[in-house]
Amino acid sequence: MNKKMLIFTDLDGTLLDHYTYQTRAADCTIKNLKEKNIPIIPNTSKTLAEVLLIRADLKLETPFIIENGAAVYIPVNYFSIQPDGTQLENGFWVKSFCQKKDFWLSLLSAEARQFKTHFRGFSQMRAQQLADLTGLSITDAGLAKRRQFGEPVDWLGSQQSQDDFIKHMHLLGANVLEGGRFLHISGNCDKGQAQSWLAQQYKINQPERGLTVIALGDSDNDTAMLEAADIAVVVRSPVHAFPILQRENELYFSREYGPAGWAECLQKIIF
Ligand SMILES: [Mg+2]
Repeated sequence: MNKKMLIFTDLDGTLLDHYTYQTRAADCTIKNLKEKNIPIIPNTSKTLAEVLLIRADLKLETPFIIENGAAVYIPVNYFSIQPDGTQLENGFWVKSFCQKKDFWLSLLSAEARQFKTHFRGFSQMRAQQLADLTGLSITDAGLAKRRQFGEPVDWLGSQQSQDDFIKHMHLLGANVLEGGRFLHISGNCDKGQAQSWLAQQYKINQPERGLTVIALGDSDNDTAMLEAADIAVVVRSPVHAFPILQRENELYFSREYGPAGWAECLQKIIF
């Protein structure tokens, strides 16, 4: 029997265009994948509220990973048995890998006071400010603010102060991921760990069938998922260089940007 393929994909700048947040150039490939029953699994820095909307738009019924690997959401009964370590929450089996947001907010305010004027966190911004910064609508910015597990910050200071801040936060036990626009302060979770856990659940569910994990991303916060996949696709960004990866085999770089690059590489690999 053919190995089952799983597609883990970043959203912002990868499946969604960096500027328009649209998937248009990938729509035909999404349809092709659905016809072949290949799950498209969002693996994103976005919140539950944001992913639920995108998932409904794209008519995906697959599991997904939110907030940079902080939690995996699996629709109830997607697998024949409920995976170990998951909790039932609004129709999903949820596996979380990270402490909740309040923990990170108190760490930032109590232990990183010297950097206070160098950044602005999502919690300090009104939806309008976040909308201005990202190009999201006010409604969508409101959804982006509903974070459960960490705090993204907009860095206002120098590169040097950012480097110092990242070192300082590491010493405090936090993890700092650089996304396309923000620094994400969170726990020791990443997209790779959550992806590997979820791939393992597919294996447990269908042990007789091998798996090929394909991951697609455009930024530094995608490197863990790209390194952990069987096949890695780095999608070209209009605003930053390709992230640096250790692996050299089964590695693709798109020629096109965002969703067009996403479709270009999956067409080459699968179809
Ligand atoms: Mg991205």
